[in-house]
Amino acid sequence: MFELCWVNTKTNKGEVIIMEITIKARAKINLTLDVVGRLPDGYHEVEMVMQALELHDTLTLRSQEEGIAIACDHPQVPTGEGNLVYRCARALQQATGIDRGVHITIDKRLPVAAGLAGGSSNGAAALIGLNKLWNLGLTREQLMEIGVTLGADIPFCILGGTALAKGKGEKLTPLQGIKGLPVVLVNPPMGVSTAEVYKNFDGAKVSHRPNIRAMIDALASGDCRGVVDNLGNVLETVTLEMHPEIAIIKVELLAAGALGVLMSGSGPTVFAITTSQEEGAKIAQRLTHRGAVFVTSTS
Ligand code: ATP
Repeated sequence: MFELCWVNTKTNKGEVIIMEITIKARAKINLTLDVVGRLPDGYHEVEMVMQALELHDTLTLRSQEEGIAIACDHPQVPTGEGNLVYRCARALQQATGIDRGVHITIDKRLPVAAGLAGGSSNGAAALIGLNKLWNLGLTREQLMEIGVTLGADIPFCILGGTALAKGKGEKLTPLQGIKGLPVVLVNPPMGVSTAEVYKNFDGAKVSHRPNIRAMIDALASGDCRGVVDNLGNVLETVTLEMHPEIAIIKVELLAAGALGVLMSGSGPTVFAITTSQEEGAKIAQRLTHRGAVFVTSTS
């Protein structure tokens, strides 16, 4: 999921020291999301097909002697301990005993509290970047183990691509995905609390559950039509009732020519799969009155 965009190094007595790393933190959507039960700790047990997107925030990690400092100019993103990036950096320090510090700048493009795992992907990018910056040599699995203690979506954000997620979303099976599928996102200007959506979820109100097997098969055979036909998210039963505008956005996207539409995660962002990037740009243009729009593709 992560590309190191840029690495700035210096040499000290023949040793190459990484001073600064710039890394992408990609958004995710859920091609399917089903709630299949309750876990012993009271959490909802989910089954979902997760898909990373090209759309991303950018994190710049600069080595410093001590302390963790976060800079982000988005008004809804905390820069202290409330930031997942801060908590991931501290968890990594605690797990490894390293005493180095870091200054992290988050260039935020992803809408916040949108159902796109913005915070989780930032946290995951911080874990991957700091592993390099601090030269820790941890494996991807070790980073996932640290990440999952701070958020169930973080392991997927570390893995990237396409994956089946079970449990709370942390039990992952990588899937063959379709890269480059054109996607339009419409993010209406309302924040949705993931916890509140799950709290209000009532399985009895679900009339249609996504066919995850059919989605996996469609992805494996590169069948875009099959992907579109099998999109499904049971959390729509909660969030669309709270915010009927989301249903209107879905209708408007389809009327504008989208092949298929679905709310991502607990919402409120709606994504549309389109025939091409050009068609996606035209569709996005027609939805600008509904909120922030993005034209992107699967990664
Ligand atoms: P998910 O899809 O995992 O539910 P989301 O996209 O709905 O996530 P986020 O963008 O992660 O939601 O934001 C949820 C909350 O997390 C926000 O209220 C925000 O203040 C807080 N937060 C903490 N760290 C970050 C971060 N690095 N980026 C964005 N939000 C963050």
